[in-house]
Amino acid sequence: MELIVLGSGASVPHPRRAASAYWLETGDGSLLLDAGADAAHRMAQEELDWAGLDAIWISHFHLDHIGGLAPYLFGTKYAPQTQNRRKALKIFGPEGLRKLFEAFDEANDYGLLKQPFPVEIKEVAPRAEFELLPGLRAATFSTPHTSESLAVRLLGKGGASLVYTSDTGYAEALASFARGVNLLVMECSFRRDKPVQSHLELADAMELARRAEPRRVVLTHLYPEWDAIDLAAEAKKLWPGETIEARDGLRLKNSDANG
Ligand SMILES: [Zn+2]
Ligand SMILES: [Zn+2]
Repeated sequence: MELIVLGSGASVPHPRRAASAYWLETGDGSLLLDAGADAAHRMAQEELDWAGLDAIWISHFHLDHIGGLAPYLFGTKYAPQTQNRRKALKIFGPEGLRKLFEAFDEANDYGLLKQPFPVEIKEVAPRAEFELLPGLRAATFSTPHTSESLAVRLLGKGGASLVYTSDTGYAEALASFARGVNLLVMECSFRRDKPVQSHLELADAMELARRAEPRRVVLTHLYPEWDAIDLAAEAKKLWPGETIEARDGLRLKNSDANG
């Protein structure tokens, strides 16, 4: 599988970091992890097949993670590229996901789910196990961020695994959930003295890495306070493993159990 970072930022507008969105290309289809406001534009900018996207994972309902969801569906409803599409788009997320679409459509007659192709909404619970794409297994974990927020662990056919924490506070159980994963895509909102418990600062993130022992870590959901700092070097002081600073446009191969 290949991870393409579309948005490594958070809710604060930033010149080089769009809000949360990640494209995952698996051997068996494409998956969008969260849909920040610029997701549709960023998919096009990275020359990804946004019209053929197979599935979307929504981690929670903060707007820096779903702000681009309705605009994407507004786009696919009318775009020439999707008028002949017949395969379904599956959208997975926490309980309340369906209500969100209903609320959009109540606000104005968008008809977001009336598309040229079927749209399947699948609400999943914490500790659920399901198939996200054919051959791509998924498991969820309730994170201490919002009442609905979920981390997801993915396992591809070839053995490649990935955990996307999305927004989370510190929880030891999250390290167990991410244990031994190939690629741990983890939020690291703040450097130190975090203003809220519902996010991670660097020491939290590196403690989770130490406990989870992933092959590699990507730190993301970066607030502007990280701009002038060598994040990877700071991380190295706290955990000796490989830490990569997410940036928009970063592409990472995570090809098999050893990759
Ligand atoms: Zn966020
Ligand atoms: Zn959030």
